[in-house]
Amino acid sequence: AKGEGRGVHRFFRSELLVGAQSRKQLEDDLREALAADQFFVAYQPVVSTRTQRIVGFEALLRWQHPTRGLVSPSDFIPVAEECGLIETIGEWVLRTACMEAAEWPDSIRVAVNVSPIQFANPALSTIVTSALAKSGIKPDRLELEITEGVFVDESAATEQMFKALKGCGVRLALDDFGTGYSSLGYLRKAPFDKIKIDQSFVRGAAITGNRNAAIIKAIVTLADTLGMETTAEGVETQDEIALIVELGCSHIQGYVYGKPACAADVRAHLALAGDT
Ligand code: C2E
Ligand code: CA
Ligand code: CA
Ligand code: CA
Repeated sequence: AKGEGRGVHRFFRSELLVGAQSRKQLEDDLREALAADQFFVAYQPVVSTRTQRIVGFEALLRWQHPTRGLVSPSDFIPVAEECGLIETIGEWVLRTACMEAAEWPDSIRVAVNVSPIQFANPALSTIVTSALAKSGIKPDRLELEITEGVFVDESAATEQMFKALKGCGVRLALDDFGTGYSSLGYLRKAPFDKIKIDQSFVRGAAITGNRNAAIIKAIVTLADTLGMETTAEGVETQDEIALIVELGCSHIQGYVYGKPACAADVRAHLALAGDT
């Protein structure tokens, strides 16, 4: 039994080692990715339920690695956050998204995801101002998507950053709403313009008797009362559109209206739609 234990122990250690090595490799690859021009931004349409027209796009980071292929942001963003690279990468996304949105009609917004680590950097508002100035887009065309993670350390600095960003004139959205803890308190504390209802609530909501529909309805009522817009995320079917419209969400985002597409495809689409 003793021998077996040692064997298990040895096996476990080597497994960990392999994990650590590939993790280190991923980190090294990430460090190179910006310089090697392996990142690009994909844009997914956000549609108004009232007009059924595209009113904006969410910028979603993509990493085309020479041998790994297209790496999912869910796999590399956490690594970038842990090793501090998210600051540089996030700034690149922000600048790129603003420059590319400058090619779109003035009425179309761009939403950019901001990591809690970027949010904790007092320079963020200066970085945002600079990206806006360089691209020339109006501040209210930029929406920053923030998760509950920014509230983890509840400092005066967090409050200051919300004030500074509002001062820049950008819009703020609370992303992945309903997936974390004590979200309601956060709504009281920060000046959000929009709540993004996580796709886990939309999934299956169109099935009769599903509780998710009741939860979405409650979130929409709350948002309306607070004067905030709502986007339902991950909408995939016509039945889901019908339900989301009925529940009163102001915006819809999901594969049913379009998957994330490259900047050139978005420009072509907008030109065809005659909005330019
Ligand atoms: P998120 O911010 O919640 O973005 C929505 C995700 O849902 C995107 O995944 C999008 O492609 C996916 N999605 C949209 N519509 C549908 C649908 O109808 N069905 C399904 N099944 N999925 C849908 P993606 O692009 O893989 O991004 C995953 C996450 O990575 C994002 O979740 C966000 O948290 C993070 N992320 C992506 N880009 C950035 C970035 O530039 N900065 C930071 N900090 N995080 C980013
Ligand atoms: Ca988002
Ligand atoms: Ca989300
Ligand atoms: Ca999410």
